[in-house]
Amino acid sequence: SLRDLAGQLDRLHGDGYGKYRTIEGSWAGDGYTVVVRKAQTDPFAPASRIEVRIPADYAGFPERLWAQPIRARALADYLLRELGKRLRGSLLSVDACGQEVLDRSALRVQAGAVTVSLGIDLPGPRRRIDGRGARTALCTELPSAIEAIRYAALDAARLDTHVDAVQDSAALRGMLADAGLVAFVADGAMLARRSGTDDRPLTESAGAIAFQSPESMRAEFELPNRGRVVGMGIGAGITLIVGGGFHGKSTLLRALERGVYDHIAGDGRELVVSRPSTVKIRAEDGRSVQRVDVSPFVGELPTGADTRDFSTSNASGSTSQAATTMEALEAGAEVLLIDEDTAATNLMIRDARMQALVAKDKEPLTPFVDLVRPLYREHGVSTVLVMGGSGDYLEVADRVLMMASYMPEDATDRARALVAGGADRRIEANDFPSVRHRVCDPASVVTEHNGRRKIKQRGIDTLVLGDSDVDLRAVEQLVDRGQVIGIGLALSHAVESGLFDGQRTLGEVLDQLDEQFASSGVAAVQRGYLGDFALPRRFEIAAALSRIRGLRVLP
Ligand code: ADP
Ligand code: MG
Repeated sequence: SLRDLAGQLDRLHGDGYGKYRTIEGSWAGDGYTVVVRKAQTDPFAPASRIEVRIPADYAGFPERLWAQPIRARALADYLLRELGKRLRGSLLSVDACGQEVLDRSALRVQAGAVTVSLGIDLPGPRRRIDGRGARTALCTELPSAIEAIRYAALDAARLDTHVDAVQDSAALRGMLADAGLVAFVADGAMLARRSGTDDRPLTESAGAIAFQSPESMRAEFELPNRGRVVGMGIGAGITLIVGGGFHGKSTLLRALERGVYDHIAGDGRELVVSRPSTVKIRAEDGRSVQRVDVSPFVGELPTGADTRDFSTSNASGSTSQAATTMEALEAGAEVLLIDEDTAATNLMIRDARMQALVAKDKEPLTPFVDLVRPLYREHGVSTVLVMGGSGDYLEVADRVLMMASYMPEDATDRARALVAGGADRRIEANDFPSVRHRVCDPASVVTEHNGRRKIKQRGIDTLVLGDSDVDLRAVEQLVDRGQVIGIGLALSHAVESGLFDGQRTLGEVLDQLDEQFASSGVAAVQRGYLGDFALPRRFEIAAALSRIRGLRVLP
């Protein structure tokens, strides 16, 4: 029992650090089990890993809080945040959560039973066991933290609000497609963040202005818990966000980017949702590209390279964006988000003067403005685009949203009038060819280093996978370092379990992974990994895979 563990730690006090290994194993607590899964071998090694298994009857959560998977995930998120607060200042730690509610390995609720995964920095000054310090953490602080997340100890009303709110956002997201929308922003939503490095909401006292939908774009939904919600519905097709600099265009787009995730109550974006298959596209010069058909965007290159089968270890701004777009479509994106701030201008627009000056046969690029309609017409892929600097897109947009002092106005009619009175219409591309589905060489997805699995993260910017560093800076919908590990685990699982078999296309591998995530959550890819991670989306898995520099694509 935990009392035995306390006794053992007392006895170990002052011994050599390596003897901490002897506490590995299961210890019965009062109604739950504490498992020391791995004791670190020295004080500077990664923290030791503890698992706590709390049976459903001891945890005490009523079924309504966990019977549905989405509510179980929300409950887990709430418990993890509570536990994090409790353990602040302790040697014990749990995975930290940001503004999004993700599926995390750190705390899972299954049929009412709770499994918690924690780290502890086992104390060992001068490489001697500090048995008393370890005992306080494991035998006093841990039990009281576990007690604090039982149903009886929690603020039931707050917990209900949290779970209901997450269920509502997920339900709202699920209603978009049937309503013919790609995204929805509720009236009253707070989109602005405190800063580029602080994802919490800007407060009203700091000047935050609540979102208010224009009447012509108003949509209404009935949510399972909070009932009626009113806001702006962004329809399928091509949506242009225009407006002067600093009027809130990018902030709106960024909220749509994050709308694929659920947000915690008080975030301001709880009722800002976009379709799950929404992918942000941007330019990323310098990235590697492996055998992507970029020919819709890039025709004859001066080098003579075949753009239907395009590879480079150092893409330009425009070719990188073309490749990223095609890869997103390959992975199943149905909505593309693009911001002029991070897009390659020459891939986005070409005005009449430039068309006149540079002959068509000297210009390899077909700008997105000429492809965006065929992309929607032939593939059903919608685009939401921020473009304040050029009027080219007015002609191809289904609707134009003007941001003025952070307030959206429907400027579609004014835009139509301008276009109607203008000169010649653009000549759009004839079609948007079908997307090439690649088959990856499993041997080129190296997840091991010196014979051992190696998956690490450096923030949300870099995945260290096997021998290579995968640069994820331009993969903007990653929100948590845990997802970076999740990507590494998903890729390593896909290789080890034979999902990458040299036959399946990347899209088929992603479908299989999604199925496994849906039935087993984080456990689908865990494969004995003891650290914290969160479930990534298929699009980020595909984006990371495509950025592995040694990736090979089979013929
Ligand atoms: P744009 O892309 O139109 O140039 P941004 O979206 O970058 O503008 O916004 C400019 C600034 O205004 C940012 O600092 C942003 O945080 C702030 N901002 C955006 N929307 C709001 C809002 N609703 N309330 C308060 N500040 C906002
Ligand atoms: Mg901007």
